[in-house]
Amino acid sequence: MSMTLFERFLRYVAFDTRSDPDSAECPSTPGQSALLRELAEELRGMGAAEVAMDTRGYLTATIPATAGYEGEPVIGFLAHVDTSPDAPGANVKPQLREHGGDTVITSDGTTLLGADDKAGVAIIMAATEYLLAHQGIGYGKVRIAFTSDEEIGRGVDDFDAAAFGADFAYTVDGGAEGELEYENFNAAGAIVTIHGRSIHPGEAKGRMINALRVAREFDAALPAAERPETTEGYEGFFHLTRLDGTVAGARMEYLVRDHDRGRFEARKATLAAIAARLNDKYGGERVSVELEDQYFNMREVVGRHPEVVERAEKAMRAAGVIPIVKPIRGGTDGARLSYMGLPCPNLFTGGENFHSLSESVSLAAMRKAALTIINIVKS
Ligand SMILES: [Zn+2]
Repeated sequence: MSMTLFERFLRYVAFDTRSDPDSAECPSTPGQSALLRELAEELRGMGAAEVAMDTRGYLTATIPATAGYEGEPVIGFLAHVDTSPDAPGANVKPQLREHGGDTVITSDGTTLLGADDKAGVAIIMAATEYLLAHQGIGYGKVRIAFTSDEEIGRGVDDFDAAAFGADFAYTVDGGAEGELEYENFNAAGAIVTIHGRSIHPGEAKGRMINALRVAREFDAALPAAERPETTEGYEGFFHLTRLDGTVAGARMEYLVRDHDRGRFEARKATLAAIAARLNDKYGGERVSVELEDQYFNMREVVGRHPEVVERAEKAMRAAGVIPIVKPIRGGTDGARLSYMGLPCPNLFTGGENFHSLSESVSLAAMRKAALTIINIVKS
């Protein structure tokens, strides 16, 4: 028997799928596998083809093309089944609130709701059921993927984009109605290592080099206006996430973020230049900077395929939604997928306040998101 979008959402949030960064298992928690198995069962029940669950925690399925539409591009949709480890995710008790003709769903305030990203899961499932039951509207092949452990950064570690076989795809993991995202940060991690010269403080004059003070000097050389707490929109930053050490040695960790690739590279060069200056000042290789790129702005990839964004905008408008294009101040699985050759913007789910106890989702917006997917596929 078919379920409404609302019933689906309530059913999926009942699964405790909180991911666990300390687990080496894939998926990291058994609740995720349980929900993936449930979704596989439901997909088979609605007549999806090629329903496959691998041991790594990816569930994929196909909505076959309508006869005569086999030449259309293959479009993918992805959502993640796990919820953030930042807050409890078990025994979710959804609360309903009527608000201007809409139903807003929250938890009871003691747990996450899990709209991130079970709203996305429910939206894709509802759209899939509709499409399979309405072959007559005419559409090309659609590929579906449900992933695990997105919240702990492992969401697409082993995802085989080539085997997935879509020409382009969308993650359904965004926020409020209309959000459409295809720009994210370029991201690097930096480790700054400082070697001091430890001398007995009584005889230290002119000889001691206190690594802790050099660390402070290093950090003070970075612009105070370029920190997460002082930036927004397209403004990048240096984010000191860790500092520890002794007189003899210190270590700092930074996140480097910028939407613009040129400015991103300049930020990395700034860190190296500060190290060079301090090495000149104190003599020798006192300060070293190790940089590692983490992910890049998907705009570089998606920008070469403007039709992927245009298609989503057109589909939203046809669903009565005004597209709101916003830069993501972080990364998405779609960013990494884009660099695997699968251009992958992010669509709204209608959820808000993700990763917090006040997480909520609008039922009306969820319905429009499902309609957006249907419109993307048939346009
Ligand atoms: Zn998410």
